[in-house]
Amino acid sequence: MASCDDQVFNPPENVSKKAHCSSMEQYKEMHARSIKYPEAFWGDIAKEFYFDQPVPGKFLDYNFDVSKGPVYVKWLEGGRTNICYNCLDKHVLAGKGDQIAFYWEGNDPADTDSVTFSELLSDVCRVGNYLQSHGVNKGDTVAIYMPMIKELVVAMLAVARIGAVHNIVFGGYSSDSLAERMLDSSASVLICADGVWRANKLVHLKEIADEALSLCRQRGLDVRLSLVVQHMARVTHPPSLHDAINGHPAKKTHFDDKLNYKVSWNSSVDVWWEEAVSSASDQCPVVWVDAEDPLFILYTSGSTGKPKGVLHTVGGYMLYSATTFKYSFDYHPGDVYFCTADIGWITGHSYVTYGPLLNGATSVLFEGVPTYPHTGRFWEIIQKYKVSKFYTAPTAIRTLMKFGDDPVKKYDLSSLTVLGTVGEPINPEAWLWYHRVVGGGNAAVVDTFWQTETGGHVITPLPGATPTKPGSACFPFFGISVCLLDESGEEVLGEGEGYLVFRQPWPGMMRTIYKNHQRFQTTYFQKFPGYYCTGDGARRDKDGYIWVTGRIDDMLNVSGHLLSTAQVESALLEVEQVAEAAVVARPHPVKGECLHCFVTLKEGGKFTDALVTDMKNKVRGKIGPFAQPDYLQLAPGLPKTRSGKIMRRVLRKIAVGDRDFGDISTLADPSVVEILFQHRPANA
Ligand code: ATP
Ligand code: MG
Repeated sequence: MASCDDQVFNPPENVSKKAHCSSMEQYKEMHARSIKYPEAFWGDIAKEFYFDQPVPGKFLDYNFDVSKGPVYVKWLEGGRTNICYNCLDKHVLAGKGDQIAFYWEGNDPADTDSVTFSELLSDVCRVGNYLQSHGVNKGDTVAIYMPMIKELVVAMLAVARIGAVHNIVFGGYSSDSLAERMLDSSASVLICADGVWRANKLVHLKEIADEALSLCRQRGLDVRLSLVVQHMARVTHPPSLHDAINGHPAKKTHFDDKLNYKVSWNSSVDVWWEEAVSSASDQCPVVWVDAEDPLFILYTSGSTGKPKGVLHTVGGYMLYSATTFKYSFDYHPGDVYFCTADIGWITGHSYVTYGPLLNGATSVLFEGVPTYPHTGRFWEIIQKYKVSKFYTAPTAIRTLMKFGDDPVKKYDLSSLTVLGTVGEPINPEAWLWYHRVVGGGNAAVVDTFWQTETGGHVITPLPGATPTKPGSACFPFFGISVCLLDESGEEVLGEGEGYLVFRQPWPGMMRTIYKNHQRFQTTYFQKFPGYYCTGDGARRDKDGYIWVTGRIDDMLNVSGHLLSTAQVESALLEVEQVAEAAVVARPHPVKGECLHCFVTLKEGGKFTDALVTDMKNKVRGKIGPFAQPDYLQLAPGLPKTRSGKIMRRVLRKIAVGDRDFGDISTLADPSVVEILFQHRPANA
């Protein structure tokens, strides 16, 4: 195979023809203006949004240089607006009230629903009124712990409408994690649901929430309201429920004889959502807020350490999530858009709720998982709703690749024009499969690099303009001034590799770590004063393309050669039987560090000596003899955050036989850690 640096896919003609940005010349011209005249560039974009009071003075005020004083960033300060108004009222007033905002697709394919912009607005107003009448005011934090149901969107928009701040906690986190986040963000109101099916697994959300509330109380936070959506009564239970109940009497505790789901109730705080909203008015005046007022707090995935409470503000985030959605997916009216991320992650905030709604888009909101009730579930949904723009993560793509092409080919996916990916570097094999099998070779693949902190895409191709290279996130988005720095802070010009940093602020960037501005400064601005430091490494190739190589903390140094995890893992993933790979460095008496690779195999794969030799040879061949892995370990699974990212810091500990794993509260399946620990290769 030709080197990926040389493999180029031109933007599909049918996309380019009508794209918002349809050529590299146009991209370069717009990008240059956004960097040189950021206030004018974003000022023009701001005109497309409703501001109750225009920005009185400067559009941008900031200091990026810690050596000159505290770091701060302010966009549009003094302008008054409301993001909920721009998501809903604006479209309803423009006569688009009857348009579908979301098709809802449940865990069970039989459960479906849809909601229009007008219906969303009415529901949001009712909840907004209810919250206000229960003492939720501008600036108060409301925690949200819910499945992917329309009430989750309603809840977050209602909070935003009344000027309050949402803190959404992914509905798969434990009671400890929920309590931790509620305490840290001083959330005295919680919105949750009774329970949810994820595939065949029942998650008792209310029970977990109750435990969290009691932990909060023990630690002095008085949660005064818990609004509970009665979700279980309206969903189809998996067929296995009946067997489970018959076979395991213990499970009966959550269901009555008629299979109604039961929850415990504390009438001093618990209120059913349905009762609360039925009596509330569907007219709720907007609370206008300053563009720099907080919109939400969201905790990072915790891949590299203790999660950070990232704070985003209203105005800049609104402009940025909307503009990235419009250009990165080249959104046009008539599109049906489907993002598989949970709203509990930043991807869901920016690209399930805010970006699409700000653009007046119609989306699919999916409650389930990609492999239930069968491995073609995503593709079935795409066919069913004629999805044109699809957005998912490399971890999902790699999982689905394991089942081969057949589950994809069963469905008509010809509606697809743009395929997005986010979350981790995507290895070229997965990129090519996504392009060829899912997109039928006709759709543009956009590998979007960004972080909870950046609020929206910061490096990404534009589907109608950018010739793409498999595995490269390509070029910076408007407003992003990319720079690669070496260890000493010198800029790497032209081809080369270094720390990925940004030179100037963009509207969607975080403003602080909630209640910890010091950590904000040390994490992102200390190492290279004057720059925002992403913590990721990147390479610029001869054509100027950016290749994100992974976390700087995870870099590998073998015999003096600096290697990125993405490089080695991509090579391993070229071996036919390998489904997933994660590589870490471990000390070596001669080389300084050597490579310890954890690999999972495709269905039916066998971890034989021949396979081990193949893997070693592949890495040698692709990178060089010095990179040959010393340890290859079969992994039944990899430790991943609940957002699907590999936690290499845990693998590093396993490799050296150290049980001091650090904060692993965001791990999806902690049991995998013990299995890998027990089976680490001899002399490890
Ligand atoms: P924490 O900051 O707590 O360690 P996290 O960094 O995993 O957690 P997120 O904000 O969810 O939390 O993830 C952002 C990170 O995900 C990026 O810094 C990068 O490492 C990785 N990432 C996201 N998208 C891409 C992409 N397209 N290519 C490469 N890496 C990506
Ligand atoms: Mg991070």
